[in-house]
Amino acid sequence: KLKLAVLTSGGDSAGMNAAVRTVVKAGIIRGCETWIVREGYEGLVLGNQEHHGPPEPLADIPDNVPARISDDSLINNLRFGDGELLRDGQGDGDFSDEPRSLRNRYIVRVGWDDVRGWMSEGGTLIGTARSAAFRTREGRLAATYNLIKEGIDAIVVCGGDGSLTGADRLRSEWPDLIEELRNEGRITPEQAETYGHLKIVGLVGSIDNDMALTDLTIGAPTALHRICESIDNINSTASSHSRAFVVEVMGRHCGWLALLAGVSAGADFIFIPERPPKAMPWEDEMCEVVRKHREVGKRKTIVIVAEGAIDSELNPIKADYVKDILTERLGLDTRVTTLGHTQRGGRPCAYDRILPTLQGVEAVDALLEANPNTPSYMIGINENKIVRVPLVDAVRKTQEVAKAIEEKNFAKAMSLRDPEFAE
Ligand code: ADP
Repeated sequence: KLKLAVLTSGGDSAGMNAAVRTVVKAGIIRGCETWIVREGYEGLVLGNQEHHGPPEPLADIPDNVPARISDDSLINNLRFGDGELLRDGQGDGDFSDEPRSLRNRYIVRVGWDDVRGWMSEGGTLIGTARSAAFRTREGRLAATYNLIKEGIDAIVVCGGDGSLTGADRLRSEWPDLIEELRNEGRITPEQAETYGHLKIVGLVGSIDNDMALTDLTIGAPTALHRICESIDNINSTASSHSRAFVVEVMGRHCGWLALLAGVSAGADFIFIPERPPKAMPWEDEMCEVVRKHREVGKRKTIVIVAEGAIDSELNPIKADYVKDILTERLGLDTRVTTLGHTQRGGRPCAYDRILPTLQGVEAVDALLEANPNTPSYMIGINENKIVRVPLVDAVRKTQEVAKAIEEKNFAKAMSLRDPEFAE
């Protein structure tokens, strides 16, 4: 029986809960034992500290026990162990001597009921973190030990390119880590044999849609939707007062959100990281466009600036500077709105429920079919088909694109993203 664990890591995105919920439910349907890891890789590194004895009342837990998020809220959401299917004999059955607190337990067995109703929740209910410890070999050794201690050697990681880079690293180091644990006598030779091959699958949770080898990432459609709604709201004031708004949206290496928000909200001008405005000075070009739109009767002006936007001399384009230009040159009453974390949060839109559901099932199937001869996969979507692509390829290509953008080599970045673009 496959024991599989799912975790969310890196920046949260809408649809992560749907991914966790689907992996758990599809896992149960396929006969697996299902676990979640709280707080991303940090939870893997911390693992489960031993607890014996009767359930601890929450109030009695000393304050010095590390707790990363409110246990009260977690317990309300994660009624682990009282799931219908667990009671039906699929689980360990008796959780009565488990501590009620999850403070010292990061790798938790879950059943069907535990993830009920998660589809429509924003963020990630099992927590996420940025783990410095997991970036070290020592941390990854602890993570490996903690997984084997629970008998888990199949994991689904839902996160962005950083998290999937970490997943790929764990995968490639796993045999060495196992060997080290065996040499240190922390695991038995039998365990080293049984858990010699890590099965790992990546799901891409990222609002920026910045992962290579997939058309769309979990959370990007919702973030786009949020931006559109915000611009619709801003439009009311913009039109009423005949104002201009400069809207700053997320996207350090990827202009997908800015570009598509611009299309869906009818923006006048858009700045993205990948393609600086060609005409220099861009200030003249932008003012010309906005002036023309005003001349034909438009009462509002929307300019979208992605976080990582740059000009053709590769200097950052800042929203405040754009505002000053519009104010000074066109005499427009201009305001800046930075959407910030409102883009990230809230309920997932329908597509951010559908995508993780389809991909979550595929992730479980990929784990069940995994063997030492198959590569570790990232689950993507290409031309509307759910696909498996080698995790290592996706990670490598994403890093190449980010590097090309950092080096301001846009032609290379674009042709890496889409070979047709180069032609
Ligand atoms: P995202 O997954 O949203 O891109 P991060 O880049 O912060 O977010 O990555 C999330 C976590 O993944 C990091 O905090 C770290 O624990 C792990 N990680 C990222 N890159 C690596 C790496 N090169 N090696 C090991 N772990 C990594």
